[in-house]
Amino acid sequence: MEERTVVISGAGIGIGRATAIAFAKQGYVVYVTDILEREGHEVVQQIETQGGHAVFRKLDVTDSTAVDAVIQEIEKEFGGVDVVVANAGIAHRVPLEQMTDAKWDLTNDIDLKGCFRMARAAAPRMRQRKKGVIIAVSSISGITYGWGEHVHYSAAKAGILGLIRGLAAELGPDGIRVSGVAPGFIRTAQSLSEEHSMGQAKLDAQASSIPLQRIGEPEDVADVILFLASDAARYVTGQTILVDGGLTIRQG
Ligand code: NAP
Repeated sequence: MEERTVVISGAGIGIGRATAIAFAKQGYVVYVTDILEREGHEVVQQIETQGGHAVFRKLDVTDSTAVDAVIQEIEKEFGGVDVVVANAGIAHRVPLEQMTDAKWDLTNDIDLKGCFRMARAAAPRMRQRKKGVIIAVSSISGITYGWGEHVHYSAAKAGILGLIRGLAAELGPDGIRVSGVAPGFIRTAQSLSEEHSMGQAKLDAQASSIPLQRIGEPEDVADVILFLASDAARYVTGQTILVDGGLTIRQG
């Protein structure tokens, strides 16, 4: 049987790591990519200890040549990429008066253009094979949630929704589905950062105001990504699913 492949950006920690482990459990060959080398190798080791198949490649999603090279390697080794998960992202706290062009550009280069680069690299071979799924990780900040001092992040995450819709329309006739997830408050290094996000105490304090009464775990998002990649979602494209425990529909 032909092996199914998935490539995930930012998969050394957090949501990307949980996604890598979830796909490995489903029998995928998992390309774990990240700028964090030690963490990426650890994910591969964990997957292999559990009997799965994974490969680590250091990958900075701002480098188009490097993104193309990783995708081409998978295509050469396995015939194609079945699933792309464009997950890598940063969320730096920058008050508007300190928001230089460089800070704006860096966040958009990673969070939005990084997703575009992954999709652009994988699309030609997916089109030839008439199959493939591309999933990008947005945020509640891209859909409905205002996050002050993070306007570059919010704009990038909102941009991902447009990217998903445009790609879904363009690639759908070739059998390629493009979808997204928009996580709420998920317990990862990003949300636990005191400097750039809520930090542990503020994060924990949010739990009671979430209808499902808890902070999300990376696995909560990974399982929805897995669903979107699966045949169970075969008639879903162009959509971004909120994975937020009901945070954004709460009243009062
Ligand atoms: P995380 O734990 O910080 O993981 C993100 C990973 O991406 C890290 O390994 C990070 O490395 C890596 N990365 C940063 N810049 C990169 C680049 N240029 N190329 C490749 N990898 C890069 O964050 P997470 O919470 O799991 O977030 C995963 C995705 O979900 C992000 O897109 C994030 O914006 C989104 N999200 C998260 C939450 C949440 O509550 N956690 C909510 C909504 C959306 P460094 O650690 O070195 O930066």
